[in-house]
Formats: sequence, structure tokens, C-alpha cells
Amino acid sequence: MSEIPKTEQMRSIKDQILALKESPLYEYRTSNKYFPVIGEGSHDAHLMFVGEAPGENEAKTGKPFCGASGRVLDELLASIALDRKTVYVTNLVKDRPPGNRDPEPAEIDLYGPFLDRQIAIIQPKVIATLGRHSMKYIFEHYGLSTMLASVSKIHGTAYIGKAPYGDVTIVALYHPAATLYNGSLKSVALEDFKVIKKYI
Ligand code: URA
Repeated sequence: MSEIPKTEQMRSIKDQILALKESPLYEYRTSNKYFPVIGEGSHDAHLMFVGEAPGENEAKTGKPFCGASGRVLDELLASIALDRKTVYVTNLVKDRPPGNRDPEPAEIDLYGPFLDRQIAIIQPKVIATLGRHSMKYIFEHYGLSTMLASVSKIHGTAYIGKAPYGDVTIVALYHPAATLYNGSLKSVALEDFKVIKKYI
């Protein structure tokens, strides 16, 4: 464990992302006066959520999941008696892709290592992925490549992944936005959150 306080380590990540001129999303961020979205919550959280990339609300405020998807996330957290402040919420890609398009491989390669550093700082017991890109990244980088399948197949199943600090439980979830497009996924998401509750 590093001697440097967690807040300082996180601040250094933020400073590096703020100055990330080599990012394909840097010019889009600065010309729109957007913020990068680093993450929010407890640096000692047992549970960490990893979404895909900030949307417009998030880029305007610098806060993850602060729009419609965030309200669903809060509701799902409340269903297992958890408050947002006790968990850590971040994204795989820290800057908003134009028009909310999917993150591109070069963006994932650039921002992924910052996520890895955040995971190493927080050392969560459980990582819950929100969406297919974050699922793919986490499964591939935390020893679960062979378990990778579509979110519809593996959502709500707990896998034991390998993190630099030891074992970590990894659960793939539907993205909260999916429950807004397809109302029948809401009950599925509620069941998946019960699985998370068992491991934290
Ligand atoms: N969707 C995401 O994946 N992340 C956010 O922060 C907001 C919406």
C-alpha cells in the first residue's frame, strides 16, 4: 500500500487527466468547457461501480451518473440499503465522447490505466460494471477473459477476479440506462443488486 494519502493519489490522477492533451477527447472537452469525470464517493468503498463514459450532464458538472441513469442507480442502491456516498462511482473513459457515442479502442487504451490506478487505490471488495465496454475491460484486465460473454448472459453472476491487491469479486450489470429503454430489465437489475449485497 502506498504511503501517499488516497486523496492525494486521486488528485494526481485528476491533474493528469485534466492535462491529457494526447486524448482524442481533449479538444472536444475544452472547446465545450466540459469537465473530465474522475469519480465520486468513498476512497475506502467496498463497492465500486464502473460505467462507460460521461454523458452531457456529467461532462457539464464533472460528476458521474448525475442524470437519468444516475437516478436509476440511486434507486437500485436504495433497494439494497446503500447510499451513494458509501460506494465509489466512476467510468472507464473519463471524458465525454461526442454525441454519447461508444468509446473507441484508443480511448479505452488511454483511460483504462487511470481506472486501474483508482482500483488499486480504493481496493474494493466488489467491482460492478455498468455496460458492455466496462465489463469487457474489467474482465480482460482482472483475470476473467475466459468468462467474458454478453451482458445478457453473465449479468448478476459473481466471479472472482485477480487484482494487484488480491481477489476481487466482479459482477457485470446492465447499464442503468438499459432499464429506462426496456422497463422489464428493472426487475432483473433489482435481483442483480441483491447479488452484490451478498459480497460486500
Ligand atoms: N452513463 C455512464 O456510463 N456514465 C455516466 O457517468 C453517465 C451515464
